[in-house]
Amino acid sequence: MAVSSSSALSLDQTLPWQDEQWQQFCRLLNSQRLPHAILLSGAEDTGKRHFAERFIQRLFCISPVDDVACGECKQCRLYLSGAHPDFKRVVPEAAGKAISINAIRELSEFSVITAHQQSWKVALVAPVEAMTLNAANAFLKTLEEPREKTLLLLVHDQLAPVLPTIRSRCRVFSQGLPPPALVRDWLVGELGGASATVDKLLARAGGRPLRALSFAEANTLDDIARFEGVLQQVQTGEAAPVSAAAAYEGQPLSQLLEWLMSYYCRQLISAAQGGGRAEPRQFVFYDLLLSTRKMLESKSNLNPQLVLEELFLSLSQST
Ligand SMILES: [Zn+2]
Repeated sequence: MAVSSSSALSLDQTLPWQDEQWQQFCRLLNSQRLPHAILLSGAEDTGKRHFAERFIQRLFCISPVDDVACGECKQCRLYLSGAHPDFKRVVPEAAGKAISINAIRELSEFSVITAHQQSWKVALVAPVEAMTLNAANAFLKTLEEPREKTLLLLVHDQLAPVLPTIRSRCRVFSQGLPPPALVRDWLVGELGGASATVDKLLARAGGRPLRALSFAEANTLDDIARFEGVLQQVQTGEAAPVSAAAAYEGQPLSQLLEWLMSYYCRQLISAAQGGGRAEPRQFVFYDLLLSTRKMLESKSNLNPQLVLEELFLSLSQST
């Protein structure tokens, strides 16, 4: 598998909100103070993986230009083809699945062999919170035995906490949500689109630039608008909650939940801005959204259709 970050971004592309951190990483590298284990922590879909993969290419590159990988040398080509023998990517087998103890065992075998190319050896673990407890405990051993010119780069999407024993053995770099104005300009440039659409995309994506970009690429705004229309009908009593939920049978619950949360948050915010006061039952509903998300993240065995029905029923009673 060739190296690519997320969506349509290629690794020679910079994300403007990461400039400062990029320079910080390069300074550490150039002064030979790069920690052996780095935890890059921040909200999902803001470009952390892209950053990590670009930096790994920079580590391997033998003729970087202005602290950016050249993309042409043997090392860059090996890395970009996905065949670099000194690079190990540890990710869940499928989206939403866990990182197993077997994957971590392979990683520990990788970390003890000598580098093939007499340079860096790098492992990328993403997202670190996807490790099962057994995998995380097994990983500790690798973390505790730093090796020269070996970097463990862990990406944390903040969907669940990282074990303190892992966190404390890493140098933590946080990436907050990027500044809205910067993201907006970037997205307008990427999409070459009208700024009104960009604002809508960003609002639906909770300010996360790569999520907004993938919404745009998949024409998701129309789907969201339809879904929000149904939510409105459920709230006003024009649609029966159970039959409205039935129309979404088989669709990923995590995505519907995210759209529902975004919709409801905007409603609460606009009520507050209009001087209105949120009713206690609105907060009860919001708590239900949060607890449902937590259940989904903990990968409990849920019946998605029943959960969606319950959410729609509660929504109809929350207004
Ligand atoms: Zn290169």
